[in-house]
Amino acid sequence: MYAYTRNAPRAMLALESYGAKFNKTEDGTFEQVLMPGHTYPRAIHYHFRTGSQFKKGLTAEVGRRPNITVKEDFFVVDVFVDGGKVAGALALDICSGKFVVVDSSAVVFATGGAMELFHPHCDASNDLTGDGHAAALRAGAELADVEFMQFFPTGMVWPPALNGVIWIGELRYHCGGWLYNKYGERFMAKYDPARMELSTRDMTSRAIVTEILEGRGSPHGGVWLSVTHLGRNQIQAFIDETFPNFSFRGYNLLEAGVDVREDAIEIAPVSHFYMGGVRCDADCATAVRGLYVAGEVTAGVNGANRIEGNALSETQVQGTIAGGRAARYAAGAGTAKVDEAQARREVGTYSAMIERTEGPNQLALRTEAQDIMWRHVGVVRNGEGLEKAVARLASLRGQAEGICVRCKVAQANRELVEAIETRNLLVMAESMAKAALAREETRGSHYRRDCANEDDPRWLVNSIVTLADSEIALRHEPVDFCYLSPEGAETPPADAREAL
Ligand SMILES: Cc1cc2nc3c(=O)[nH]c(=O)nc-3n(C[C@H](O)[C@H](O)[C@H](O)COP(=O)(O)OP(=O)(O)OC[C@H]3O[C@@H](n4cnc5c(N)ncnc54)[C@H](O)[C@@H]3O)c2cc1C
Repeated sequence: MYAYTRNAPRAMLALESYGAKFNKTEDGTFEQVLMPGHTYPRAIHYHFRTGSQFKKGLTAEVGRRPNITVKEDFFVVDVFVDGGKVAGALALDICSGKFVVVDSSAVVFATGGAMELFHPHCDASNDLTGDGHAAALRAGAELADVEFMQFFPTGMVWPPALNGVIWIGELRYHCGGWLYNKYGERFMAKYDPARMELSTRDMTSRAIVTEILEGRGSPHGGVWLSVTHLGRNQIQAFIDETFPNFSFRGYNLLEAGVDVREDAIEIAPVSHFYMGGVRCDADCATAVRGLYVAGEVTAGVNGANRIEGNALSETQVQGTIAGGRAARYAAGAGTAKVDEAQARREVGTYSAMIERTEGPNQLALRTEAQDIMWRHVGVVRNGEGLEKAVARLASLRGQAEGICVRCKVAQANRELVEAIETRNLLVMAESMAKAALAREETRGSHYRRDCANEDDPRWLVNSIVTLADSEIALRHEPVDFCYLSPEGAETPPADAREAL
C-alpha cells in the first residue's frame, strides 16, 4: 500500500509522457474529482473514460520500444516450476492451435480479475476467468482474500443488448439519479438515509439485491434508476458530455429503446472488481521464485473493498515494480530450460480435452457454476447457501477434469480456450465460496446476512488459499497492518520500499 500511494503520482506522469490525456484545470494542473467513498477530491480522469487513455498511452509506448515482442492471441495456460523456481510458461497459440513452451526464469502475470464468475451479472470482459490466479495456485503460489468481490450497483439488466453496461448507471452518481423499487419507493432511505443514492458501491448493491430478494424488484430482475425528476436540459447536458448523440460503445441508446429523458431504466449489481488475488510482497513477488504479479490479479492493496478510481493507477505502479523486479531477477537467475517430460505431461492434460470423445461439456459446467455463484456467493450471502455452493462447486471442479471439447479443429478453437478457462473458473469459484463460508462476519464487500456485523476480534485476518494434491486448502493469518498518515509518509514503515 505504501509503495502504491507513494508511486501513483509518478506513474501517472509517466503515462502522460507516453501520450495519455487527463482533464486539466485552467492553471494546467490535473483536475481532481470526488468519487463515492472518497474524503477528498483526488481522482484524476479523462471525461470519465479514463481507461481508454491508459490503453492509448501504453500502446503508443510499446510501439516505440523495439525490444518488446507482442504475441497476439497467445493464451497463457500454466507456469513451469523446477525446484521451486520458474522455468517457463505454457501458452496456446490460438490461431495455429499449437501449445508453445516459453523458456524463461521469470514470468509476470497481469491477467486481471475473475468477474466472469458471476456472468451474466458482470460488467467486465468475459475472458476474466481467473486464469492467472489458478495457474499461480497450481505453480505453488498462494491466493489471498478471495472472498472479496466488488459489485458495481448499477449495471443495466434491460434491454439484453446493454446487459451489464455500467456507464449509464453513472446517472445515479454524476447526474443525481434516484433509485426506486416496484412500488415507486426510494428505498435507499431504509439503508443509508444520510447519503441515499450517493451511498457507496457495497451499501447500494446490498440495498438493491435485498429489494429484489424480498420481491420488490423490476420485471427483469433489477430495480429502477431514474433522472426524470431533473430538468430535461440538465439531463441533456449530462448526455452531451457522457455519451454524445446517445451513442454508447457502438450502440445508439435511443435505437435500443432507452430514453433516460423520459423513462426509468432497469439496473442491478454486476461483478466489477476483484480485491482477492495472488498473494505478493511489495516487490510484486509471489511465493514461487521468479513468478511476479501486477494489477487486478494481485491481492492486498485494496483490502476488503476498493474505493473508486484506484484500480487503474495500481496497474501502473505494480506493472513498473513487477517488470523491473522480474527483469533483475531473470538477469541473476541465468538461462532457464523447461524439462521436456514435464512439458509433454502438461500439454497432455490440455490436449486430452480435444482427444476425448465423451465427457462433460464445458459450457454446462460453467453456466451452472455461474448460476450458483450469483445465487449463493453474490452480493448477499448466508451460511446455508454457501455450504450448498461449496459442495456443488467441488463436484463441478472434479467433473471439469474430464471435459470433452466437441469441436475438434486445431486452429482458432474457441471451445478449447473456453474449456481451459472453465477449469480455472471452477478453481476460483470453489476457493471464493469456501473462504466466504469460513468468514462468519460482514466486512467490506463480503456481506453475510446471517452474520451482519464486522467482528475484529475473530476476523481481522487474511484468508490464504493453497492447492495441494488437487485439494483447495484455506487458512487464516492476522492482517499485517501498515498505518499511513500525511506525517507518517515521511517516516515509512520499515518494510516499505522505494519502488520506482
Ligand atoms: C467497466 C469497468 C469500468 C472501470 N472503471 C474504472 C475506473 O474508472 N477507474 C479505475 O481505477 N478502475 C476502473 N475499473 C477497474 C480497472 O479497469 C481494472 O482493475 C484494471 O483495468 C485491471 O487492469 P489489469 O491490467 O490488471 O487487468 P485487465 O485490464 O483486466 O487485463 C487483463 C488482460 O489479461 C488477459 N488475459 C486473461 N487471461 C489470460 C490468459 N490466460 N492468457 C493471456 N492473456 C490473458 C485479458 O484478456 C486482458 O487483456 C473498471 C473496470 C470495469 C470492468
